[in-house]
Amino acid sequence: MCVANLVMPYKFTFDLSKVPRFFFTEVARVSYSKGMHKTFLKTLQELIKKFRIQEATGLNLSDAVILIQDLIDLQAVNLMERGKFLQAKKKALFLPHCSRKYMDSRCKAVFDASIPSYTCAHCSKDCLVNEADCLAKKKGYDVYVLPGASCIPKILETHRYEGVIGVACGEEIKLSGNILGGIGVVGQAIPLIKNGCANTAFNMETLVKTL
Ligand code: SF4
Ligand code: SF4
Repeated sequence: MCVANLVMPYKFTFDLSKVPRFFFTEVARVSYSKGMHKTFLKTLQELIKKFRIQEATGLNLSDAVILIQDLIDLQAVNLMERGKFLQAKKKALFLPHCSRKYMDSRCKAVFDASIPSYTCAHCSKDCLVNEADCLAKKKGYDVYVLPGASCIPKILETHRYEGVIGVACGEEIKLSGNILGGIGVVGQAIPLIKNGCANTAFNMETLVKTL
């Protein structure tokens, strides 16, 4: 049975929406440069200080390092899988239920346990899930709004998707990646830029580029 995942996978909350985008470009540049693995942790800590990531996010240095390293790992897997993903014909988008505008009865999405997924009822124009749902469907994707990665196996048993885009926090993406990898489905991950299991956010521009 698919149940809402109310356990926060990171031991800290984060909001990267105030972090300058240049920070991520710089981290990506450094992490892909030659010999980065030997000095990377030190360099990452320096970049975190230089870009005042702790001030922008409220995270301490070690939590910021964990988070940024996870984001870099995800980006590396995305890049490795990108070619195969572009070849995939039947695709789905998995969105997290925590990015809905409302987590209570004001959200008119209906949860169907037999899928298992919410179906967005498009009640709020400024809801991230609504916007993502419309964009992805126009591109031919099937869209699922999931309470947790535990919903994924049943969906993939019923539908033979070749490619999946998953939007979630880093830990949920790792769980989903294990499920997809185990059955040979190609994935692209979009990490949340604000976690907390309610009122979370992802970057719409990143989703548009990934679709
Ligand atoms: S737009 Fe969709 S997901 Fe967002 S609050 Fe309304 S029904 Fe829920
Ligand atoms: S995807 Fe959302 S609800 Fe699920 S664990 Fe992550 S932050 Fe919480």
